[in-house]
Amino acid sequence: MNPNHPLNRLNIMNAVCFNCGCGKSSAIKLCSNCHEMPTSHEDRVVSVCLSIECLRPENLEIASRYMRKKNRLPGFHEKVTVKAEKIVSQMPDNFQISQSFDFSGTFFEDNFVLDD
Ligand SMILES: [Zn+2]
Repeated sequence: MNPNHPLNRLNIMNAVCFNCGCGKSSAIKLCSNCHEMPTSHEDRVVSVCLSIECLRPENLEIASRYMRKKNRLPGFHEKVTVKAEKIVSQMPDNFQISQSFDFSGTFFEDNFVLDD
């Protein structure tokens, strides 16, 4: 583990991986633990639900612990899902990930997608 690598540099949890429950620095971002990236609409909505956009920091911690212990997603309040749907619907349609995409680049800046 190189602590200066961009994927390892932040310990601040701004989002939780929809796949493995580890902390990430933003919702729509490659997970440095399981290397999953939310690409489908459903995965993106879940990812935004599991982010600071929709949950308080203490709830992110709880969601992360829950997912790593139970190996499944927590339930979300309807208000959270509605808000996440709205955020995802505002994301650019062409934000697609191809197999050949170079994830080592700086493309995935923190908050790239979630900024208004
Ligand atoms: Zn992950």
